[in-house]
Amino acid sequence: MQKSIFTDGNTTQSFLFVSVASLMSRTPNPQHASNDSPHPLGLSYLPRHEISAWDIYLQQIERVTPFLGNLSRWVETLRRPKRVLTVDVPIHMDDGSIAHFEGFRVQHNTSRGPGKGGVRFHQDVTLPEVMALSAWMSVKNAALNLPFGGAKGGVRVDPRYLSEAELERVTRRYTSEIGVIIGPHKDIPAPDVNTNERIMSWMMDTYSVNHGTTSTGVVTGKPVALGGSLGRREATGRGVVVTAIEAAKKIALPIEKARIAIQGFGNVGSVAATLLSKAQATILAIQDHTGSIYSPEGLDVKALIDHVTNQGGVLGFEGAQVLDKDAFWDVPCDILIPAALESQITANNAARIQARLIVEGANGPTTPQADDILADRHILVVPDVIANAGGVTVSYFEWVQDFSSFFWNEDKINARLTEAMQAAFANVWQIAQDKQVSLRTAAFIVGCSRILQARSLRGLYP
Ligand code: GLU
Repeated sequence: MQKSIFTDGNTTQSFLFVSVASLMSRTPNPQHASNDSPHPLGLSYLPRHEISAWDIYLQQIERVTPFLGNLSRWVETLRRPKRVLTVDVPIHMDDGSIAHFEGFRVQHNTSRGPGKGGVRFHQDVTLPEVMALSAWMSVKNAALNLPFGGAKGGVRVDPRYLSEAELERVTRRYTSEIGVIIGPHKDIPAPDVNTNERIMSWMMDTYSVNHGTTSTGVVTGKPVALGGSLGRREATGRGVVVTAIEAAKKIALPIEKARIAIQGFGNVGSVAATLLSKAQATILAIQDHTGSIYSPEGLDVKALIDHVTNQGGVLGFEGAQVLDKDAFWDVPCDILIPAALESQITANNAARIQARLIVEGANGPTTPQADDILADRHILVVPDVIANAGGVTVSYFEWVQDFSSFFWNEDKINARLTEAMQAAFANVWQIAQDKQVSLRTAAFIVGCSRILQARSLRGLYP
């Protein structure tokens, strides 16, 4: 074993494990050591000249490593996805042409159980992004103590430009291509950005037809009529609200007095807005891909959902002021919920945020640099790996119900979800207090320790 030094912002941390750097010193590789790379120890198959979501995840791993004790010996496991699959997804378009789309499925870690995580359809999907999302699933599933590893999938496509038939063909071909590595005991996809119950039905059917079985447990987030779970659709937003309420208690913020700003009005943002307004909180501002709207008296969430269903976005909603898109970050509020995409709260806007509490409905919305700025400003951040874990928690319930072919009622599901989220939050809060770290680092301490404990108990083969 050798001692290696890692720097983390202003601090320098020392810890013991055999690092990539020490291995490289045994077998120098001039390609890896190239001076112009932003991450010279990175994986050879990643682009070297841009900072990606994967780089952000690696920074988060650097921050947690000093707290992993003897398990830090295994930390390199977390810096390398177990399995990465890139597939070509060719389909016939309705106009007779043939289109090809890039598809990915990454299994970051399966030490604690089968891979688990969603599939997103988005025009900006990249491999480093899917890798980061798969790694955050590993940490999330472990932080909630769900018996899963972490995985994620994506297709680089803008589904707004596909017909229903084209969308079905993309879904079925993608599912068939990743069929070699998914399965009810191997890796279980679910909805994520721009995917839904309909798409999960096609995925379940494609896998089932290819395997000659009706395999309901291969995906979660299915329609209830096809082995889906009651409460799954609302689960991520509901979990965001449960953790928001728990965190608000810690800063003596009564939820019924809270003024809320939400970025994103998809499945997560709209459900969180609905439940928070039912809890008497004021939904002050919403931003989506069409623009930002604001109402000092509070937005009528039900009417806004109808408007978005008809118009495709929040812009044009009567009874709300239109904000300059960027001015969304300046809105004075109590709770800010980023519920859209990665890297939204950055060094560029973190100093302007006027909230007391940030609850991450999205995956990876805050960069490490923004985390530092927010910590200096005493803004509490409930990290994604806890805050948005409600979806995968009810996915777990769905998977269990599918295997037992015995389905629970919605009250039981919501009660178990609330209990799981409250317990995970309380555990992470306690560790943050004990170790004097952020909630993100505390959640990573819980999640990464569980993953690496399983890794070390299983050992290496051969
Ligand atoms: N896509 C959701 C997430 O990011 C849910 C994943 C799942 O249910 O497997 O947590």
